[in-house]
Amino acid sequence: MSADWKNFRADPRRIEQRIKELSQFGANREGGVSRVAFSDADVEGRKYIRSLMEKAGLKVRVDAAGNIIGHREGRNPTLPVILFGSHIDSVPHGGNYDGDLGVLGALECIELLNQQNFVTAHPLEVIVFSDEEGGLTGSHAAVGELSQEALQIKSHSGKTIGEGIRFIGGDPDNLQSAKRNPSEILAYLELHIEQGGILEAEKINIGVVEGIVGINVWNVTVVGFANHAGTTPMNQRKDALLAAARFVDSVNYIARSIRGRQVATVGTIEAQPGAPNVIPGKVVMSLEIRDLEKSKIDLVFEKVKESSEKIAADTGTTISFAALDVTAVPAPTDQRLRKIIQEAATDLGLTTKLMPSGAGHDAQNLARIVPIGMIFVPSVGGISHSPREFTTASDMANGASVLMQAILKLDENGL
Ligand SMILES: [Zn+2]
Repeated sequence: MSADWKNFRADPRRIEQRIKELSQFGANREGGVSRVAFSDADVEGRKYIRSLMEKAGLKVRVDAAGNIIGHREGRNPTLPVILFGSHIDSVPHGGNYDGDLGVLGALECIELLNQQNFVTAHPLEVIVFSDEEGGLTGSHAAVGELSQEALQIKSHSGKTIGEGIRFIGGDPDNLQSAKRNPSEILAYLELHIEQGGILEAEKINIGVVEGIVGINVWNVTVVGFANHAGTTPMNQRKDALLAAARFVDSVNYIARSIRGRQVATVGTIEAQPGAPNVIPGKVVMSLEIRDLEKSKIDLVFEKVKESSEKIAADTGTTISFAALDVTAVPAPTDQRLRKIIQEAATDLGLTTKLMPSGAGHDAQNLARIVPIGMIFVPSVGGISHSPREFTTASDMANGASVLMQAILKLDENGL
């Protein structure tokens, strides 16, 4: 216990070596991985992580949702655990860093404590959430919100989520047992690559995440009148695609005209009947709005709706909205944890920037029951969900060192 914990620093070579080892499982030809949840590659990757956990002396268990949990005793077993980790499943044709860094960075912290013979007051737990990319499955279960319907959804592996959970050693019939008791967890911390290009472009070492944006999605249907493209004069048309074009433009304009970092996107569009010589009678498109504040999402949506009424009147069409998913509410990180992460980075001589996460993470589910904190490190070129995803060894080590120092500060001072 004599070692001064403020000197604990992650080893960039060890992290890089392990990223390389993990990337063998599900390796794709482009240099990344296709390690989708519940595949054979997922099982092999999990076995590898489990072996690292066991070698590091963690007591390992797999919960009913297939989450792998490695426990390290604290000096005071009555204290709540400090929980940290991420995921190792990938999207199809994914990269070697998304999620993987959070898991290997968490294990790096355990290695450092072992090397220094340091026992924290709080028990520590490293967690590998199951099926993050397929819908935050493991973390939904950890907060008691994995529905029976979700178990029926077919995953990229070809198995349903229920079958997949069983395949990786979980028990979909007993999901309640995976639910965590909030009083047993002091905080959840996650290290992750940024998946955007801001940190790299601004030459900043560490992103202190303000929160994970809420994502609301609608189906938008424009109904006009399909008619002959040769014989219908321009002033007698009810062109659904023309209305849709104006709609796409207005969504972009509205999102930009309000102060803030909200984003709004029309990402899919389909015109019917879809022939060069027919005026489109119907268009179906998507509308997605993201922000850290629910009120901002609502404001953008209200303005989009208002504008759509005007477009509909001008074009002789109707425009209607059907909510597809308006349940992904914004998840702010805990202010005290932001401060701890910020101070940890500053003590290490690293620069920081407070930033939102535009992508979803398991932390957003955990936020419903415990305080969460997230640490971002730069992604080269802002590339993610691609074999070209890359983060340098020194950036990875910086992130793991910040995670280590944040855990130790939290351990010493509590929240
Ligand atoms: Zn991820």
